[in-house]
Amino acid sequence: MADAFPVSVVGAGIAGTWTALLLAEAGLSVDLYERGDDTLARATSHWAGGMLAPDCESDGAEPAVIRLGQRSITLWREHLAETPMAGSLVVSHPRDRADLARFTRQTSGHESVDAARIAELEPVLAGRFASGLFFPDEGHVEPRIVLPALRRQLQARGGRIHFGQDVEPATLGGTVVDCRGLGARAALPELRGVKGETVLVETREIALHRPVRLIHPRWPLYVIPRAEGRFLIGATSIESEDASGVSVRSALELMTAAYTLHPGFGEARIVEIGTALRPSFPDHAPRIEVDGARISVNGLYRHGFLLAPALAEIVTDYVVSGRRDNEVMRWS
Ligand SMILES: Cc1cc2nc3c(=O)[nH]c(=O)nc-3n(C[C@H](O)[C@H](O)[C@H](O)COP(=O)(O)OP(=O)(O)OC[C@H]3O[C@@H](n4cnc5c(N)ncnc54)[C@H](O)[C@@H]3O)c2cc1C
Repeated sequence: MADAFPVSVVGAGIAGTWTALLLAEAGLSVDLYERGDDTLARATSHWAGGMLAPDCESDGAEPAVIRLGQRSITLWREHLAETPMAGSLVVSHPRDRADLARFTRQTSGHESVDAARIAELEPVLAGRFASGLFFPDEGHVEPRIVLPALRRQLQARGGRIHFGQDVEPATLGGTVVDCRGLGARAALPELRGVKGETVLVETREIALHRPVRLIHPRWPLYVIPRAEGRFLIGATSIESEDASGVSVRSALELMTAAYTLHPGFGEARIVEIGTALRPSFPDHAPRIEVDGARISVNGLYRHGFLLAPALAEIVTDYVVSGRRDNEVMRWS
């Protein structure tokens, strides 16, 4: 095991939390600094869907996203054995058949499903869709449950967490990992925010076992089951950095998507309407940038939960043994 030399991690979103945890597991003395409180309500991670879907994301995502995503799923399961791995179901309305055919060609790791198989996977959707795709090797997590769970593991490994600390990484000594998301924009001029909007609803009339995606010409719309009869409906993807609110149009589109998935959503109670900005580089791929003892992990875009464990592992390997991953690491 490495000597317990000190490392500071700035930002306790999903990137910083996983990085701090794996550094602590490697035997380092870790301090995690977060400017917000433990609700993380200002972090993008607080608002995410939490899908771990490397195969569904293979339509258009960089190859690194698929590779790191598959590794991350293993790490999620090693650390949180209860991580649901029930796969993802993709369905489409007959009018969107051409889009389903395109999605089928552009993704891998799926099996085609007919109405009977859809009903077997999700009984509540029986008779509603004639065809779709099932991605069996995918999972999902609930951000507001797994972030505190990972923090407890970090503390059990001796890591220290400091909420309410607005920290400029350049002012810290020693090895520093900057996981500030969009808070690092001044240091990363190419970074931008991509707006995502969601609606959280509650109903006891519907039960889903896995995220269900609805093929949509503009956005990958999905409904993710949460604890206690809740469902997250997401998500728009808009080139805007205005995170001050959700437009009526977006809310209508999201709720209509859920209603067309199952009319029972029409009676659901709206719990929350949310929006956040995904930290993104122009190529939508994540980057680990190394500048001496300062390491930045950013650009997780719409894949933060999918990628954070594997990126944290790469950072830890580099800090502990100098090993490099040339696909995602860059040097200043
Ligand atoms: C609607 C939506 C749905 C999504 N769905 C999914 C999904 O299903 N699957 C998936 O994998 N990804 C999803 N994502 C993407 C994912 O949420 C992001 O990629 C991820 O949250 C980025 O994490 P991060 O840790 O880099 O940034 P953040 O979560 O923003 O964390 C950065 C933290 O740094 C803190 N910070 C900033 N500056 C300072 C400072 N100076 N000092 C101390 N702390 C500071 C911030 O307060 C914040 O807590 C979704 C995103 C959105 C918006």
